[in-house]
Amino acid sequence: MKTLLALLDKLSIRSKLTVIITGISLVVLFSLFVVSVLTQRSMLREALKHEVQILAQDLSRNCSPALVFDDRQAAGETLGTLQSKPQVAFGSIVTVDGGLFAKYQRGPDLERSDKLRLDLPAGAKSEAFFVGDFLKVSQPILFNNEQIGTLNICAGLDRIQQVLLRYVTLGLIGLAGAALLAWLLALWLQGLISRPIENLAATMLTVSSEQDYSRRVAMERSDELGTLVENFNEMLNQIQVRDADLQEKQKRLNYLAHHDPLTGLANRLLFDDRLQHALANARRKSNKVALLFIDLDRFKNINDSLGHKTGDVILQAVADRLASAIRAGDTLARLGGDEFVVVSEQAVDYQGITMLAQKVQQILVPPVQVGSQELFVSGSIGVSVFPEDGECVESLMQCADVAMYQAKELGRNNYQFFTSGMTERAQESLLMENKLRKALDNRELLIHYQPQVDMASGAIIGMEALLRWQHPVMGLVSPGKFIPLAEETGLILPIGKWVLQEACNQAVLWQKEGYPDWTMAVNISPKQFWQADLLDTIEEVLAKTGFDPALLELEITESAIMQDAEKAIDAMYRIRERGIKLAIDDFGTGYSSLSCLRRFPLSKLKIDRSFTNDILHSDDRGAIAEGIMALARTLKLDVIAEGVEEAAQMEFLLAKGCTEGQGFYLGRPMPPEGLVDYYLHKVANKGEVPDASYTVWAGVGG
Ligand code: C2E
Ligand code: MG
Ligand code: MG
Repeated sequence: MKTLLALLDKLSIRSKLTVIITGISLVVLFSLFVVSVLTQRSMLREALKHEVQILAQDLSRNCSPALVFDDRQAAGETLGTLQSKPQVAFGSIVTVDGGLFAKYQRGPDLERSDKLRLDLPAGAKSEAFFVGDFLKVSQPILFNNEQIGTLNICAGLDRIQQVLLRYVTLGLIGLAGAALLAWLLALWLQGLISRPIENLAATMLTVSSEQDYSRRVAMERSDELGTLVENFNEMLNQIQVRDADLQEKQKRLNYLAHHDPLTGLANRLLFDDRLQHALANARRKSNKVALLFIDLDRFKNINDSLGHKTGDVILQAVADRLASAIRAGDTLARLGGDEFVVVSEQAVDYQGITMLAQKVQQILVPPVQVGSQELFVSGSIGVSVFPEDGECVESLMQCADVAMYQAKELGRNNYQFFTSGMTERAQESLLMENKLRKALDNRELLIHYQPQVDMASGAIIGMEALLRWQHPVMGLVSPGKFIPLAEETGLILPIGKWVLQEACNQAVLWQKEGYPDWTMAVNISPKQFWQADLLDTIEEVLAKTGFDPALLELEITESAIMQDAEKAIDAMYRIRERGIKLAIDDFGTGYSSLSCLRRFPLSKLKIDRSFTNDILHSDDRGAIAEGIMALARTLKLDVIAEGVEEAAQMEFLLAKGCTEGQGFYLGRPMPPEGLVDYYLHKVANKGEVPDASYTVWAGVGG
């Protein structure tokens, strides 16, 4: 049974249903058939028994006289009438004492007839029973109601069996027909159940193998299968919606993972991949690949002073322009900040690559319109070429980066092809950094002081502390060379603190020596300005040196403040609350907005020396210088002109109402002892500008 069930389990639903329906029908039909055969058999037997008993009663009556008269012949004749009953095999008359009086026997089977005879009882009752293949009937023979003998008749059951055999044969044929019919019906009817299930299974299979969730099972039924199909379709609906949603999200994620959200350009990941691909291609075909590294010039300035929104608009405009400059098949990516790269597989030689670089440079020339403003952008472009400059993504990127820095150093807004000499320069810069790190400890740093003068009287109002680096081998290094490096590396923080400390110390020393209370202006770099502990540092220095905060003036550039105007105002107020003055250095070169300017707690604007320089020769610049003076008047700020190099410039400034000046004409930056000499000379000469001998302290860069 178990193996049968296991076998059934392996079949398909369709076969299972067919087998079950057919099987059950067969079992039921066969049971009915067996019952009907058994009924038939017992009916046939009863009929035979009845017939033989009637026969026995008739015969017992007829043979009674023969027994009374002991006439064996007559008895034999009477028994002979049994000849007409083919089912009777044997008949006998037995006397009361058990002796055989007469017998009839069909056929020559003596042995069987003897056995039958012996088995036959000589009882007083009428009896009928089945033994083996025979029916045995005993009937008492009576005379005057007294038993004088017994008549035994034995009938064979062969005829009944023949009839039954025929019945069974026909029945089995009928049963086979019924089984066939049941099978055909089962085959047809099982479809009602199996077809929808098969349909479901088939749809499920296609859905899972093709991942096609738009498939549906088409079927309308009102039974449980209908509900199943309906729910299945509904489930597919939900999966389809979820799948579409998921695919959309995946697409978006994929896009975000490979693109810059601001410009829509490829990001570093995608760029790396594309460059990798381009290099593999180029290797196969022995082609060149050009890598252009573009860094926007002074973008940080724009971003800091005009805000990130403006910066974003510019980046988007640049992205659009660059995209229009490259050919289909080239890759353009934004690596972050203001850095863009172009990979070109189509510029086959240096001439082609040069043309591409020029095109990129040119496309940036027209100003970008941001609201009502027109802003000018340019880029410094570094170019590296595969295979000459490098074989892999990293080395090509490094070379293009170095070349880009070279382009920046050469005054920006140009392109440079990488040369091996550039790496040396980059290494030089690294070396310089290491030397600068040691400069503080080795006491190689010193400060020169440049007087700030009241140009009308010639009196010294104060001075600006300007850092110098006296390197044992390199000599005097200009701050223009090492301040940006210090800013970049963070070294400006300890260096800046040292300058503040040293300048305040010097000022206090002069006070102690009886010199006038000169204002001390100290430059504060952007990084320094944004340090949360700037005020603490200043306090510490003031406490250590005992310098009067009212004589301290901090010079900050416009771009440093504009990085975050609100926060800057906050920081500046805290400085002003300590009584320290604040001046804006190089004013006019940045992008500070007038509305902000009004809110800054300033005391002074320093007109950048580029305006002072051109004041006599360029109407525009002269007008800007005048404008700054007017602005300072309106905002009630002091104003000082930087870079006064000639008497004529001083005259002009004085005529325009600017009385304070700083510049080579008025006094170069000089060491402390030089400044004292300068002062003493001034006193001696009643405020006159000292002669050229005081310019020996000029040093590098000033
Ligand atoms: P700055 O603050 O604008 O300083 C004025 C610069 O102009 C000085 O250059 C000075 O020597 C130079 N200068 C003064 N008068 C004239 C003139 O008549 N003609 C010309 N052509 N130049 C003149 P220096 O000393 O080379 O400093 C350059 C810049 O380095 C400074 O510009 C300042 O931004 C920065 N710097 C100098 N010392 C420090 C410092 O201690 N800390 C920080 N953060 N920056 C400093
Ligand atoms: Mg300055
Ligand atoms: Mg300046």
